[in-house]
Amino acid sequence: MNDHRRSELSASLAQVRERMGQACAAAGRPVAEVDLLVVTKTFPASDIELLAALGCTDVGESRDQEARAKHAEVAASVRWHMIGQVQRKKARHVAAWADVVESVDRPELVSALDSAAASLDRRLDVLLQVCLDPVDRPDRGGARPEAIEALAEQVLASTRLDLRGLMAVAPVDEDPRAAFARLERVHQALLRLAPGALTVSAGMSGDLEAAIALGATQVRIGGAILGNRPPLK
Ligand SMILES: *Cc1c(COP(=O)(O)O)cnc(C)c1O
Repeated sequence: MNDHRRSELSASLAQVRERMGQACAAAGRPVAEVDLLVVTKTFPASDIELLAALGCTDVGESRDQEARAKHAEVAASVRWHMIGQVQRKKARHVAAWADVVESVDRPELVSALDSAAASLDRRLDVLLQVCLDPVDRPDRGGARPEAIEALAEQVLASTRLDLRGLMAVAPVDEDPRAAFARLERVHQALLRLAPGALTVSAGMSGDLEAAIALGATQVRIGGAILGNRPPLK
């Protein structure tokens, strides 16, 4: 029944891996330096099973309720990344299914996730989301670059959170290379404070080459692998 979908996913995965390989070669970076996070939001749990069977180890979700349901349904062992905005009151739910929260962008969320992880007796990996948009743009999430240092210190002082690096989305109407170059500068500054925060999660279906050229260690790919997303319900 799933044979058709399996070959579809297998082919698109191969194409994305090829693009990643070429981008790494162009940047003079080993392919092993860049991880693939497959963004499965809006797609069924059965796709996650197929992706896991095809060798994918990490999936990204952006809505708590949807992710929670799929997490309960998926038997394959994958790492679950939260890449969407997290409401403070949802922190406990998110901490129950996510292994990595990539969208940490404010002090209240750091404390909420830390307590949630403690109450679940687990640890959580976190990335700080950097906002690369102009200051006058409606808020799409992320902390301003100048707020990152204080957030990083708060995570370093937490009891249950491990600071792994940064995440960002390129602005819609700017050359992504310019935006990812700013992200790379924020990352260099972060490394002085937190030498273990090595992850830079940047690059999506449309701009993975630019992200890899500018130092991304993880790309988050949805559409180029799973196809067009069904409209959000
Ligand atoms: C949906 C989403 C992606 C994947 O985007 P595609 O263009 O489908 O590859 C990556 N990152 C975030 C934060 C997203 O919300």
